[in-house]
Amino acid sequence: MLDFDNTEIAFSSKSRAELRNAYMLFSAIKRPFVVRAGKMASQIALQVHLPLAWAVKPTLYRQFVGGETLQDTMKPIRHLKQFNVLSTLDYSAEGVQTPAGIQATFDETVRSIDFAKDNPDIAYTVFKPSTITTDELLSKASEKNEELTEEEKEAYQAFRERFMALCRRAYLNGVRILVDAEDYCFQDTIDELTGEAMRLFNRERAIVFATLQMYRHDRMPHLRRIYDDSLERGYVPGIKFVRGAYMEEERKRAEILGYTDPICKDKEATDENFNTGVRFAIDHIDRMELFMGTHNEESNYRLARLIDDRGLDRNDPRIYFSQLLGMSDNISFNLAHEGYNVTKYIPYAKVRDVLPYLFRRAEENTSVAGQMGRELRMLKTELNRRKKGHP
Ligand SMILES: Cc1cc2nc3c(=O)[nH]c(=O)nc-3n(C[C@H](O)[C@H](O)[C@H](O)COP(=O)(O)OP(=O)(O)OC[C@H]3O[C@@H](n4cnc5c(N)ncnc54)[C@H](O)[C@@H]3O)c2cc1C
Repeated sequence: MLDFDNTEIAFSSKSRAELRNAYMLFSAIKRPFVVRAGKMASQIALQVHLPLAWAVKPTLYRQFVGGETLQDTMKPIRHLKQFNVLSTLDYSAEGVQTPAGIQATFDETVRSIDFAKDNPDIAYTVFKPSTITTDELLSKASEKNEELTEEEKEAYQAFRERFMALCRRAYLNGVRILVDAEDYCFQDTIDELTGEAMRLFNRERAIVFATLQMYRHDRMPHLRRIYDDSLERGYVPGIKFVRGAYMEEERKRAEILGYTDPICKDKEATDENFNTGVRFAIDHIDRMELFMGTHNEESNYRLARLIDDRGLDRNDPRIYFSQLLGMSDNISFNLAHEGYNVTKYIPYAKVRDVLPYLFRRAEENTSVAGQMGRELRMLKTELNRRKKGHP
């Protein structure tokens, strides 16, 4: 029976020392001031070129990142596979928006797609569109308030080509690719290009996946539009459901710029929207594929129940559950143990390139109500269980 409180299964992949380290790390980042101070210190260290690895690598990096290179990720990928958990390769370098930085990110993402080819332990690859262009161009192109200059039109064309090249590479390699969702001010362009890529590359099966942030109150109509479009044009939409990671910034931005807040009025409304979206995908699973990324236990129980109630196979290749490396192992490992398809995001990048990702994880763990308490409670239960002599 599926039980996310089963810590023996949840942490079967972890040694006692690893559990103790995780416990100490989560206890430290529980305190918002520790995370704020760490973030500030690392930003200063970056500016004055101080080495950071000695502080970050044994702590946040070890918990949430799979390594610096593709080769490094093989270790966690093989390890997870022993517990029937597959991997999603996520090159997580962010913030270097110079032409050389963009090119390097693009090249590495191509390598990750090639790496995933013929590797059955890797279920998906992923990219974040803002890492292959600049924030300025992406928001200007999305918001359509002003016309792009000739130079910007050229830069946009180059971005579009990079975007399509990643999706085409995935298609040619037979590897599924998730297009991460980002800030509201970027998302219209991301949605447009993802739609175009799905029409081109999802003819027989879902290769390209659009991410829907269900904290946005306009996402159900968007989902229905994608579905209707797919019927009309004959392709298989891939939909990744998440709640959304940028709520505070979005609300602030909407208030400052005076447009309607794009986020649902409260958490319950987001949850309802999320549940409705996932149910819609299951109702239409004969015509689409579903990837659900969440650390919410209730959402994971719900999808598991839906699969069982509809008589679908637990390992139906069209349906995947997903969590991030280093978080909510109680969900991932128990789902996998019960035979459901699970994949962990495996972020990889050099320490200084992955810092924005790491601090988002740390902040998320201080701000998501209940998340931190749950991680700590689970770790403590398992440590106590093993102390009593259980293996
Ligand atoms: C595998 C995976 C991939 C992901 N990919 C992306 C991505 O591409 N883009 C992205 O934006 N995020 C992504 N995320 C992060 C995700 O959007 C959430 O921020 C994070 O997972 C927390 O939500 P939850 O469903 O796990 O947990 P919960 O604790 O149930 O939900 C917390 C979330 O609920 C919403 N929420 C909280 N309070 C309120 C409120 N008062 N009003 C309205 N809504 C509220 C917010 O979205 C908040 O993050 C990903 C997460 C996972 C696990």
